[in-house]
Amino acid sequence: MIIAVDGPTASGKGTLAKALAAHFGLPFLDTGLLYRAVGRHVQLHQGNPDDAADALAGCGFPDSLLDDPSLRNEEVGGLASRVSIHPEVRAALNKRQVDFANQPGGALLDGRDIGTVIAPHADVKLFVTAPAAVRAQRRYAEMQRQGNDVAFADILADIQARDARDTGRADAPLKPAEDALLLDTGDLTIGHAVQAAIALVESRLRKS
Ligand code: C5P
Repeated sequence: MIIAVDGPTASGKGTLAKALAAHFGLPFLDTGLLYRAVGRHVQLHQGNPDDAADALAGCGFPDSLLDDPSLRNEEVGGLASRVSIHPEVRAALNKRQVDFANQPGGALLDGRDIGTVIAPHADVKLFVTAPAAVRAQRRYAEMQRQGNDVAFADILADIQARDARDTGRADAPLKPAEDALLLDTGDLTIGHAVQAAIALVESRLRKS
């Protein structure tokens, strides 16, 4: 069984994807981490993330970079969003993701284009959303907890800029697949969102 989980930044899709993978016993790939590694590799080599050739060179990152905690920070998230615009980068990362999706026994992948490009044949596609202000509030609370003093308005602006880049790009834009199940986590606690996601997946599996 293949489960595709897509959605914008801070929608809760990463948490839901991990919980679903554990619940259904599937290997899990956070594909955003690959784009983050490309962005970080470009940065470490003083490249320009907006330049296609520099961004493509970033795809040669060593696998050890995937364990670097700095990949999780906001700055690298922004770099990932910039390198991911280039079709050359998307093509270079394609095989790794497709192979992961098609491994025997199935898999769960989360990202932006899993249900539309990487695994259009997925058994279940979930598109996780929440209003931008709610997502910004979550990110703000998380950063406050970590002791990062960042203005809410800056976080909201960053999330809106990332949404615009991810949905507006020509190649593999962020959008729900036609047969995706939509889950708005805006009014849900994490626990309730996980329950709702499991129920959605189970209802789709019953129908197939
Ligand atoms: O999900 P995450 O925030 O880690 O993704 C970082 C960036 O990588 C996204 O903003 C998006 O631009 C890009 N990405 C993508 N396609 C994916 C996963 C992530 O374009 N499948």
